[in-house]
Amino acid sequence: MDYFVFSYLGKPIGGSGENYGTVYDMKESCDRCGTGAKVKDVLKIKLKQTSKDLFETVDGDILISQDLYRRINDANLDVESLTKVRNQKGEVLPFYHLKTNRTLPPANIISGLKIEDQCPVCMRDGYFHDVIIGNLEKDISTKVIPLIIRYQKGIMDNYGPSDIFFSWECLGLSSRSKDNGGIIRYARPLLIVSERLKSVLENTSKKDIEFQKVGLI
Ligand SMILES: [Zn+2]
Repeated sequence: MDYFVFSYLGKPIGGSGENYGTVYDMKESCDRCGTGAKVKDVLKIKLKQTSKDLFETVDGDILISQDLYRRINDANLDVESLTKVRNQKGEVLPFYHLKTNRTLPPANIISGLKIEDQCPVCMRDGYFHDVIIGNLEKDISTKVIPLIIRYQKGIMDNYGPSDIFFSWECLGLSSRSKDNGGIIRYARPLLIVSERLKSVLENTSKKDIEFQKVGLI
């Protein structure tokens, strides 16, 4: 089966995670920066009403509507148990956090991302989408360099079976508070989905989403 890196290109909606009372499991995270933090029970968010079935928050978490969740379930996809998000008061909201407990090993080849201020211990955070800055005067627009990511053949079977994985590499920078071992901010991994999950996501929400095929070597 083919796999794809999921990207949300639309305007982010709402906030989620560290700043909204979410509790994180730090067992498998980096001691220095906190990359690898996992939502412990439930993702807490701040959200105004939206009619979207699929969107990303400003903090980089992907949320899906109850309807899209039902479609994923109906398609019998292997996505473990997704949980509904809550607001800061702890009230359950009609959205699910699209996530997984399955993290792939470092990619064999990755390009289209630049690395800046990466944590020297885990070397997992500090990835950013790379762009070629355009020139307004010459009418050259800024371009995002396409992401190319390749894994060893068979790795999805070894780390699965699953229709959804997190990448080892994480976008943005992580930062951990030294005082209480808490997390200030952690970089989110890329979401890698199977062709089957891609079809369900595309059928519901073609707008604002993009998929780059994962290469195998
Ligand atoms: Zn680190």
